[in-house]
Amino acid sequence: MQPNPVKAVFASKNPGKTKEAAAILSGLGISLVSMAEYRIDPAIAEDGETFEANALIKARAVFDLTGVMAIADDSGLEIDYLDKKPGVRSARFMGENTPYTEKNRMILEFLANVPMRRRTARFVCAAAAIRGGGSAAVVRGEIEGFIAFAPSGENGFGYDPIFLVPGYGLTMAELPEEIKNGISHRGKALVKLKAALEAGGRRA
Ligand code: IMP
Repeated sequence: MQPNPVKAVFASKNPGKTKEAAAILSGLGISLVSMAEYRIDPAIAEDGETFEANALIKARAVFDLTGVMAIADDSGLEIDYLDKKPGVRSARFMGENTPYTEKNRMILEFLANVPMRRRTARFVCAAAAIRGGGSAAVVRGEIEGFIAFAPSGENGFGYDPIFLVPGYGLTMAELPEEIKNGISHRGKALVKLKAALEAGGRRA
């Protein structure tokens, strides 16, 4: 007989993300619920200087509030030509409420006339877990690519239309969701987090 699953809260307001994380982390014996399902809505200041710091800040805030295992992620886009910007400030870049069509247009303008070989970029995701007793694990997943010369594709969100995935010759927004989830920074980070949790949790 399977033991009762341990409840864990995923520190995101996005139900789609929680579902994706629950699917990847299945088999760990945890039942992952969103903050909405747990009826919490904390205001968390994501003011860390790294993706790992922000993921830990979110996980810690939810753990402190609930006392149950908390899992969080933090992600963004690093563009080498822009000194790794927008980086940890990807959501706030040019203003939180600026539409991504506008943010992407500006990035393409910053990179006007920059040849493909210098348009290297990566999506980065840190995933963190905090459990009772304060044991913490934090890991990173990345996907390398290039900034396209023009936006393309309707899938995904955010910077997906301008991120070219080399193996496919398509932007992230042109890939079907199942393919994106299998190769994405978030998918890779959550797979690593699962391994870390299975191994007992690395101290962070
Ligand atoms: P969050 O930490 O997952 O909330 O992501 C922060 C920001 O990074 C998002 O608002 C997007 O601007 C950007 N971002 C993160 N992951 C992706 C992705 O898979 N595609 C496009 N943009 C992303």
